[in-house]
Amino acid sequence: MQPDPLLQRSLNAVWHPCTQMKRHERQPLVPIVRGEGPWLIEAGGRRLLDGISSWWVNLFGHCNPDINAALHEQLDTLEHVMLAGCTHEPVVALSERLSALTGHRLGHAFYASDGASATEIALKMAVHYWRNLGRPEKNGFACLAGSYHGETVGALAVTDVAIFRDAYAPLVRDATILPTPDARTATGGESAADVARRAAGILEGWLAQHHARTAALIVEPLVQGASGMVMYDPEYLRLARALCDRYEVLLIADEIAVGCGRTGSFFACEQAGIWPDLLCLSKGISGGYLPLSLVLTTDALYAAFYDDDSARAFLHSHSYTGNPLACRAALATLDLFERDDVLNANRERARRLGEAARDSFSSHPAVRHLRQRGMIVAFDIEGAATDFASRFFTAGLSHGVLLRPIGSTVYFMPPYVIDDTHIDHLMAGARAALAAALA
Ligand SMILES: *Cc1c(COP(=O)(O)O)cnc(C)c1O
Repeated sequence: MQPDPLLQRSLNAVWHPCTQMKRHERQPLVPIVRGEGPWLIEAGGRRLLDGISSWWVNLFGHCNPDINAALHEQLDTLEHVMLAGCTHEPVVALSERLSALTGHRLGHAFYASDGASATEIALKMAVHYWRNLGRPEKNGFACLAGSYHGETVGALAVTDVAIFRDAYAPLVRDATILPTPDARTATGGESAADVARRAAGILEGWLAQHHARTAALIVEPLVQGASGMVMYDPEYLRLARALCDRYEVLLIADEIAVGCGRTGSFFACEQAGIWPDLLCLSKGISGGYLPLSLVLTTDALYAAFYDDDSARAFLHSHSYTGNPLACRAALATLDLFERDDVLNANRERARRLGEAARDSFSSHPAVRHLRQRGMIVAFDIEGAATDFASRFFTAGLSHGVLLRPIGSTVYFMPPYVIDDTHIDHLMAGARAALAAALA
């Protein structure tokens, strides 16, 4: 077979994200020409099942006919208008529907394009909120060990993943890193809820000392994705909410990865029965079609900015804020949740996914901590070599699956359109990839 000319052109002209480009001397890029439901189709015709929703963004398959139709219509109506001084139906309707999904607890939506920008907005809003309340000294942040909230300079302050941070340390402001309630750290008969209470006890001690200088605690509810699908008990969120209230610290829920039904409820926070003061959404909200992110806030937070003085306003903008096409993709995505009763249907889909993963991997001698929260299933490989993830990825491709382990953690995070046949294909591909990666 002739090498695909697209690969060489890409290597000559494109700087790929999160990639040591020299590695592509040995590991070819995967040239995708078409998408079709959960499948990605390569230039040579090979079909890959997208087991990780293309970096966790795709919800209802590639080239989804309903989202496509909505976008075609929007494209012929209004492609973009600035959101400062102007407004339009898609952004209004989306804000109203998201507010309704929170039971109107988070009644205001502020828009941007990528997840890291939503984090930046939440951090800036939290600090500006306290400043508007006459307490500018409350400007510090706390996050959890292993947290990931994006890779821009501001978001890196609350991202505890060394490889993303070390080179940029001189640019990054310090935040306090508190213990994660990672359920895998349970010892001697502890339950996941016990681990959560232990971690919340440390949060309490820290807040008691530092609340006067702290603006907000930021968490990834239930699953810390980028540090390896770290899962924890909802009890931590209940306790963190109560402690933030007691110590007058805002709670930011970064639901960029875990929102939009990924953990079983539309928002992960719902499983703890709490609402944050600020909630970040991105990734799945546009169905995986267009860059869109947003921060939902309480009316109380919004009210602290509402004034005759423009210096008290939230002064932040991006050129594409509230882009009508992206908002329309999000509306079409929410329509699918309603029309197909997706949260309910996903209960059975998630049960099948978990069962298939347990059948395939729970008795494998190298597999540890097989775990699941909704449509995320993960396990760790004991004694994995440093090149385990890339070997697994490459072997997966030759068995028709797109899977990309994080270090020694293998995970499945497929779109919500996979059926039993797809699940069988995914597990067969993963079993073969694991055998090849460990060989
Ligand atoms: C992906 C992610 C982000 C960053 O989103 P980008 O669109 O990649 O900037 C932030 N927080 C979490 C939890 C994420 O998973």
